[in-house]
Amino acid sequence: MSKYKITKKLSLYFAVALLIFAVIIGSVFMLLFRNYSLDLNRQELEIRANNIAKTIPDHLGNRQSGIKGFAMYLNVINKIEDSDVWIVDKDLNLITGGGGQALNHQAFEYKDLPPNADVLIGKVLLGETVFSEDFTSLLDAQTLTVGVPIVSLNNQISGAVLLHSPIVGVSAAISQGILILVLSILLALIVAILLSVFLSRLFTKPLVKMNQSALKLIENDYSVKTNIKQNDEIGQLAQTLDILAQRLDKASQESIKLEAMRRDFIANISHELKTPVTVMRGSLEALVDEVVKDPKLVDQYHQQMLNEAKFLERLVQDLLELSKLQSLDFEIKKTPLSLRTVIEDVVRSANNLAKQKTVTLKIDLIVDDVKLFGDYERIRQMIFIILDNAIKFSKENSLVTITLDKNYLAIKDQGIGISKAQLPYIFERFYRSRSETNKSGTGLGLSIAKNIAQRHKIDLLVESEKAVGSIFIFKW
Ligand code: ADP
Repeated sequence: MSKYKITKKLSLYFAVALLIFAVIIGSVFMLLFRNYSLDLNRQELEIRANNIAKTIPDHLGNRQSGIKGFAMYLNVINKIEDSDVWIVDKDLNLITGGGGQALNHQAFEYKDLPPNADVLIGKVLLGETVFSEDFTSLLDAQTLTVGVPIVSLNNQISGAVLLHSPIVGVSAAISQGILILVLSILLALIVAILLSVFLSRLFTKPLVKMNQSALKLIENDYSVKTNIKQNDEIGQLAQTLDILAQRLDKASQESIKLEAMRRDFIANISHELKTPVTVMRGSLEALVDEVVKDPKLVDQYHQQMLNEAKFLERLVQDLLELSKLQSLDFEIKKTPLSLRTVIEDVVRSANNLAKQKTVTLKIDLIVDDVKLFGDYERIRQMIFIILDNAIKFSKENSLVTITLDKNYLAIKDQGIGISKAQLPYIFERFYRSRSETNKSGTGLGLSIAKNIAQRHKIDLLVESEKAVGSIFIFKW
């Protein structure tokens, strides 16, 4: 049931808003309508009263002679008007009143009139037009009374016409209005609730979908997609959820890949460590068991063991180096440095190796120097690995050229080259050629060089042709 909470809330908000709106509009409308109707009533009543007043002076002036005619006249007027018409003369005698009563046969005495009646009639006899609702008590119905003066031919005020008209019509119209308003509010309420149910379904549908997607994410199903395409806040949220799912999917695939790599790495290390250890153990056993006694052979065995120990040392050093570089916590200390100085330093160190292989090292400076921001020792190590390989895989009496330009450093050899099949793998850990020339290789050098380059945002590229030579390029 909690599924429909928003629907209920929205319906309630709609209903409350509609009711408040209806009450305000209804009250304002009723007030204005009542005032307008009363105004209209007053104006109409005034015109009617004036019209009656205009026809009266002649009869009033000659009352004695025309009693009969006057009474009949008033009777006719009362019938036409459907209202009470009272005539009061200037001596404050009520000449007629209440349903066309005959002259001198008054329905009301002056004392019966409401307290303010004499003030009202007094004002009318002074020439004013006066409205009052004070006669309501006397006439048993909500009544509006207008008093207008009767002006005789010589412009004298000879009396007053009091026209009483029930305002039941106005009240009835207002009651009718309230009834229509209530009915229309009820109708609007039903429409509003239906509309709110429809709208809330429209709103909650994508929310329900997103919730389902989020639940799947919790269950590690990152392939979910909300498939909501809306150009609003809900659409944005759905899009964010889709992006989150994509990222989580990518991260999970990467973590699977990393886990596989880690397992591979451990397997590789074990394998690489096992070989020299096995060789050393075999040699040692032969010596301990005195299977080998010939001093020349014993020497050879010692030498073999020393080589394996040196290899192990190098392997362990390289592994430590690589794991340090790959650890995100390991910080390299960057300072401004001159690349020319680094190259000259590396070449000085590699010169001995080169001489042993009768390889010539040549520095080709296209620009005088390049200033870099980096870790001197690491940059030195990176260039040394490449130069060391270049010498190691060079043919005798060949040339290794180190070229420095504004945007790159290239180390080119005329060595054995790398086949197209091998080229994609040479930067992988433990990848190495098992040739005679590379007996001491651990297969970790290029991985280390690549890591250092990456840490300095430098690209390390290679081009090579089998039996022609290779060129390794650092680009920044
Ligand atoms: P290592 O040199 O210890 O074997 P590296 O990671 O430095 O390990 O190199 C991996 C492999 O890439 C080498 O064993 C070799 O096959 C190949 N290689 C690297 N540099 C060169 C080069 N200049 N000429 C030919 N082959 C190379």
